Amino acid sequence: MTEVGFHPEGSRVAVLTAEPIGRPLDYLAPEGGCFPGAFVEVPLGPRKVMGVVWGPGDGRFDAARLRAVARVLDVPPMRAELQAFLIRMGAYTMTSLPAMLRLATRTPGLFDAPGARKVYRRGAGEPGRLTEARERVLKVLDAHDGGGFYLTELAQLAGVTPQVVKGLVATGAVDEFEQPRDLPFPRLDPALPGKVLSEDQAAAAAALRAGMGGFGVTLLKGVTGSGKTEVYLEAVAACLAAGRQALVLLPEIALTTEFIARVEARFGARPGEWHSGATQGERRRLWRMCAEGGVQMVVGARSALFLPFRDLGLIVVDEEHDGSYKQEEGVLYNARDMAVLRASFATAQVVLASATPSLESWVNAESGKYARIDLAARFGVSELPEMRAIDLREERIESAHWISPTLVGEVVKRLGSGEQSMLFLNRRGYAPVTICRACGHQIGCDHCDARMVEHRFMKRLVCHQCGETKPIPTACPSCGVEGKLAPVGPGVERLAEEVAERFPTARLSVLSSDLFGSARALKEAIADIAAGGADIIIGTQIVAKGHNFPRLTLVGVIDADLGLQGSDLRAAEHTFQLMRQVAGRAGRADKPGLALLQTCQPEHPVIRAILGGDEEAFWRAEAAARRAQGVPPFGRMAGIILSGPEVAPLFEIGNALAHAPAPLARIGAQVFGPAPAPIARVRGRHRVRMLVKAEKGAPLQDALRAWLRQVKLPAQVRLAIDIDPQSFL
Ligand code: ADP
Ligand code: ZN
Repeated sequence: MTEVGFHPEGSRVAVLTAEPIGRPLDYLAPEGGCFPGAFVEVPLGPRKVMGVVWGPGDGRFDAARLRAVARVLDVPPMRAELQAFLIRMGAYTMTSLPAMLRLATRTPGLFDAPGARKVYRRGAGEPGRLTEARERVLKVLDAHDGGGFYLTELAQLAGVTPQVVKGLVATGAVDEFEQPRDLPFPRLDPALPGKVLSEDQAAAAAALRAGMGGFGVTLLKGVTGSGKTEVYLEAVAACLAAGRQALVLLPEIALTTEFIARVEARFGARPGEWHSGATQGERRRLWRMCAEGGVQMVVGARSALFLPFRDLGLIVVDEEHDGSYKQEEGVLYNARDMAVLRASFATAQVVLASATPSLESWVNAESGKYARIDLAARFGVSELPEMRAIDLREERIESAHWISPTLVGEVVKRLGSGEQSMLFLNRRGYAPVTICRACGHQIGCDHCDARMVEHRFMKRLVCHQCGETKPIPTACPSCGVEGKLAPVGPGVERLAEEVAERFPTARLSVLSSDLFGSARALKEAIADIAAGGADIIIGTQIVAKGHNFPRLTLVGVIDADLGLQGSDLRAAEHTFQLMRQVAGRAGRADKPGLALLQTCQPEHPVIRAILGGDEEAFWRAEAAARRAQGVPPFGRMAGIILSGPEVAPLFEIGNALAHAPAPLARIGAQVFGPAPAPIARVRGRHRVRMLVKAEKGAPLQDALRAWLRQVKLPAQVRLAIDIDPQSFL
């Protein structure tokens, strides 16, 4: 990228559009000229499309045939820092520039003229005749507690015509009003006093503050409740005080109520929020305010990384080990790694916060590439919860039950003393398998290679791969025998049945993402639990994230062995992280906690590491094992996923690639496969995987490009490249 200050009228400029053309096209700068990075409208064939002035034109085209930029749009130009980031990330993830640009501009209505626009919100009136369509509109509105929706947006989300919305406006059940656009966010005041920090916390905050102003990465490691949030909010304060913007990435953006409230308490105003649940108007406002400097702090999901910050000074990646930072569809990237990349271009600090860091970050800290700060103690309590295994080979549990007598006893104790217990089971639904007791048939999905999971709450079978549902049949679809279909194994719904049976007077709350119609309902349930509204909480992994339940003193892990099955490279790491996180929920303030892990293999090294509490020993052992195998983070990997409606062409392409490994062999990389993916069919598309392994410093992307150029994909076949794959499904 050449640094050019201004493109005068009539000079050649290269404009990148989000159209799948692959590279920037030459145009003539418009009347009045334009700045590098300017958002523009250009003619493309018969259409006009949005683009960004990417640099000077390359002069290869006949000037007489060049068309001029139609107009410059009224938003600040893309900064060189963001442009450089998109180029580098595109090269790293092997994503085309237009696709990268789409990531950075995925906000409908972004370039419409400013001025007020009509938006729609829930009104106080009654809907009159409640048709199904009307009900859908109200459901969408009830699920959202921010600004209003545009008419087309609301109609589309509810799957109704705009007339249905207008009809509801007439009844008063929906309010229509003019919303001024793109107002700056209220000012956050970094000078407001924070909490009085402990000695440890104060030292950590000072270290983070000292790094402000330059690029650097710090791993902030501390058990849940040690005050990591408190400490990194001090880094945010320093960033804001310096007049720069701060971005905090959270894994489960739907669950940020508590966090937003803390920010508001600390700085006196709410930050900007960026997530898929935001309305178009909210997203447009935040995007523009990022560019104009009208927002100081953004809390967001991973795609907030592509916002056009005017001056980004800090990125916090909270729960940095969380799997949801890996984008597994479309452009495949890891937001944690890309946060570090973006910060390097923006000269910003990165804080990676976790109680149980990813092995990658642990190794980077170990090697000195990242700084590391440890918060040892939990704030206000000196002890981690006591952790013990319950050996399921020795305790008897009656059939179709999953809570051992020891665990039952501990729950009973807490019911007497007004403390809360949590039972953790990372399986949604009623039962993971439905089997025919007559013929042994297991009900599977028609479109995927996956078993259907019974969800009794919805009264349907659900495919957790594609979301397909069907009614629970009474007769076996294979042998036709009636009344022999039986659930096998527990999901949270079935566990809830057992709890209700064993503890009939206890107030029970089940936290599973699918049981709530909206993010708001889930937030309310969490707030209710925190306020003491439940005695026993049953949860899937959404409970492992950082919610504070002050009365919770017991965590029972129903099946600690669940994650250890399977051959995933990261199985041990993930089990270790999840169990530590869940156990960390127990005990706060003055009440010590107890975590009990039900397991059939208490001698398994991972279970022993969890119980032993010697985390560094676990990471050292895991790192040594990976180093010995030359796998990440000590080697590099790329996944190749071929998919299409027919399986044969996929193997043809895969085999052709496998037989032409020369470009990879030149850098010492190896190819494995093609093999059917572990989930060999999703949504009716067959999937075939290949895996490429290389040494750490090898120029993998260049080799992959040369290797893949050797084959031509048939029309129906798609090829996706997953650099640094997290999952191998
Ligand atoms: P983590 O992010 O490590 O889980 P938090 O920052 O959420 O820890 O702290 C856990 C709880 O302890 C929170 O309720 C927080 O407000 C409280 N806390 C932490 N540090 C302090 C402090 N220095 N003064 C008062 N309360 C604190
Ligand atoms: Zn399916």
